[in-house]
Amino acid sequence: MSTSDLDKSIQYIKGVGPKRAQTLGRLGIHTVKDLLYYFPRTYQDRSRVEEISNLTDGTTAMVKGIVLNIKSFRTRGWKTVFEASIGDGTSLLQVKWFNRPYQSEIFQVDDHVFLFGKVTLYKQSLQMVNPEYEIASEEDGPAKSVGILPIYPLTEEMRQISFRKLVQTVVEEHFHKVEEIFTDDIISKHKFVPITNAIKNIHFPDSMDSLEESKRRLKYEEFFLFETAMALRKRGIKEVSGYKFRIGKNVENHIYKLFPFKLTESQQKVISEINEDMCSERPMNRLLQGDVGSGKTAVAVYALLAAVANGFQTAFMAPTEILAEQHYRTLSHLLEKADVEILLLTGGAKTKIKKDNIERIKQGDIGLVIGTHALIDKGVEFEKLGLIVIDEQHKFGVMQRTRLRKKGCKFQPDVLVMTATPIPRSLSLTVFGDLDISTIDELPPGRTPVETYRVPAKKENDAYAFIRKEIEKGRQAFVVYPLVDESEKLELKSATVEAERLRDEVFAGLNVGLLHGQLKPELKELIMSDFINHKYDILVSTIVIEVGIDVPNATVMAIEHAERFGLAQLHQLRGRIGRSAHQSYCLLFGIQKSAESRQRIKTMMDTNDGFKIAEEDLKLRGPGEFFGTRQHGLPEFKIGDIINDYDIIKLARTDAFELVKSNDSKKQILLSRIMERFKGTLDLINTG
Ligand code: ADP
Ligand code: MG
Repeated sequence: MSTSDLDKSIQYIKGVGPKRAQTLGRLGIHTVKDLLYYFPRTYQDRSRVEEISNLTDGTTAMVKGIVLNIKSFRTRGWKTVFEASIGDGTSLLQVKWFNRPYQSEIFQVDDHVFLFGKVTLYKQSLQMVNPEYEIASEEDGPAKSVGILPIYPLTEEMRQISFRKLVQTVVEEHFHKVEEIFTDDIISKHKFVPITNAIKNIHFPDSMDSLEESKRRLKYEEFFLFETAMALRKRGIKEVSGYKFRIGKNVENHIYKLFPFKLTESQQKVISEINEDMCSERPMNRLLQGDVGSGKTAVAVYALLAAVANGFQTAFMAPTEILAEQHYRTLSHLLEKADVEILLLTGGAKTKIKKDNIERIKQGDIGLVIGTHALIDKGVEFEKLGLIVIDEQHKFGVMQRTRLRKKGCKFQPDVLVMTATPIPRSLSLTVFGDLDISTIDELPPGRTPVETYRVPAKKENDAYAFIRKEIEKGRQAFVVYPLVDESEKLELKSATVEAERLRDEVFAGLNVGLLHGQLKPELKELIMSDFINHKYDILVSTIVIEVGIDVPNATVMAIEHAERFGLAQLHQLRGRIGRSAHQSYCLLFGIQKSAESRQRIKTMMDTNDGFKIAEEDLKLRGPGEFFGTRQHGLPEFKIGDIINDYDIIKLARTDAFELVKSNDSKKQILLSRIMERFKGTLDLINTG
């Protein structure tokens, strides 16, 4: 069969020895097929031959002409220079090569040549320095360097020209062996070119149009495979039985009465979506997105209590100890009069208390366990885990979600993940493609939007005076620094040193607390609750307060070295304020060195809309960095662009989900063929 040909080691291709095979291996190219699927990074359009008289300074162009004279000499610095004048009947072009002495031997007067390079103006005449060239065999004969040429992502060991030659050999010999995975109906529905055609044209396009067609086809194929895996994963989750909760009006009213406020319409809408999931026999796998301060905790509390009312255990996982502790405090307070056993489980030493707690969870005594990722530790087992809520999901990976889900016993527990980083729509189809999505799209009433200002160095004292004024009005402030310890190299003010300066000088007479990640958990907890109880006016902190912290009386968020933070972080930090009816202010200190950091600050000043900020952040940093963690579960696409190919992703997703759902026998055959062919890839996506 022809496939085996494509699986042949690249080493046996003519011109590739063991050494070159090794270099190729470092690029991930081991087989003929790998090479066929090693796509260009970009292209140079050399399909147009320009007349020399049309060339302008600074452009890159292709010209064809006759060599009129040549000259080689050495400069005083012993550089060799080879010079030629080229004419094409419209004008003259000077061409120079430095340090390439052999050039004089292959380039003769009267040769017809193609030249490709950057045009510059030198002493009133147009020239090209070190252009790529090719001698045309006949006057008008085709040249290899004419056309749309691929540029590959390569390492230094490998040159474009020789790599291109290798690809050309392999493509010519093997492209027709690439197998079509799609049935005719998909191909005709989307008017795709055949796969063989796409492979050939992605490397050596006949025209810009055919390149676009090939790209569209190959992107679709890549997304299609990914979405098939997503659909299978989703089906896998839904296939198993979950718990069928019963949530009557009684329970509902009882829970509603616990809150000191009326839930917003948006909160009620997502609660009813969650309700429906929980009451169905399929396990819930839902993402709740809502901007910072939109009141996601209340929704979580509803779901948790509804599950507890059904006699189940529940787990509420937060990414930091500080946030877990806050949730513990809030919920303990809300549930003071309710009959629910609640417990906090965080990392740290295996003390006797912790061991006891783990034992009690195992016995099923505890209805509601709040904790950090300590919850997914090996030793932690539940007797009857019915619901998992994961707060600030973007701080966790897919793996952790899966691991927590496995703590269920007989059935799959329901899973609700929450995030304040709204998921840009393309990511909601990919990274989060196995989840159903609910959105809270309004803030609780009575909030005034936070005002955001940039504080240049000479205005710092004014800003500090402003903070003091807010405190005199009875409000509180956060001051956030990027680092904990003094770092000479980075010359950043560190939180510890600065806290002392702020306490003793800038804010002398006020109460200043200091919080950072390296403090003991008990101490962190104490400082945080002291701040909440207004024992401090100002809390100097590191990024540890980034997510979730809720202190409505705080109205100032001052961020030092704001240029050091990403957009999502800045928005999260700003989300710590503006949580009451008081006007709040976000002050961004620091200098903006790069264009990117300027753009971030500008975005922050322009909008409070987390959704816009997330889209902008994704654009600025790219999907890989977007979540700021390696465990984001982000797929790596070879040709598909997760940001810009939204339309193609959507098509591929619709088709893939339809395929996985379908009972049609022809489609089933296609699915099993895809599953067989791409088993490795699909498995990888599924565990990722
Ligand atoms: P986030 O979505 O960022 O997690 P929280 O759940 O921390 O937001 O809620 C932010 C603040 O808004 C909290 O102080 C909470 O008590 C309050 N809140 C939540 N829902 C409402 C509501 N419907 N009406 C008034 N205040 C609310
Ligand atoms: Mg929250």
